[in-house]
Amino acid sequence: GLPPYDPNNVFAKILRAEIPCRKAGENDHALAFHDINPQTPVHVLVIPKGAYVSVADFSATATEAEIAGFWRLVGQVARELGLEGGGYRILSNMGEDGGQEVPHFHVHIFGGRRVGRMVP
Ligand code: 5GP
Repeated sequence: GLPPYDPNNVFAKILRAEIPCRKAGENDHALAFHDINPQTPVHVLVIPKGAYVSVADFSATATEAEIAGFWRLVGQVARELGLEGGGYRILSNMGEDGGQEVPHFHVHIFGGRRVGRMVP
């Protein structure tokens, strides 16, 4: 099952501005910032402002306004960073088998070069 939400995970600290981030966008329900260890020329993380461990509890328990705000920011940030022309990839790791490292739900946006097809 899911672990309980850890309020001291690194993204919770970013949301509380206890550690800095390079912001890429924000709305009432979500925050976007550049990954500290980028894997592509553009590598942004989008997180809900609410306390959700992964897509499992976000999809099951977030409000419709939170879900809408989150996905609107994903598309908005990709557009504002100029990724719509060439295209990009979004990805979310979930749990141990998914290789999730930070236990606060997030989607990666990869772009700025040809990222090819998904290979697990
Ligand atoms: P995942 O949990 O999906 O495996 O990935 C977590 C991502 O968070 C990694 O790509 C990692 O580089 C990024 N990350 C970890 N700590 C920080 C941080 O303090 N600041 C930022 N901007 N990104 C971080």
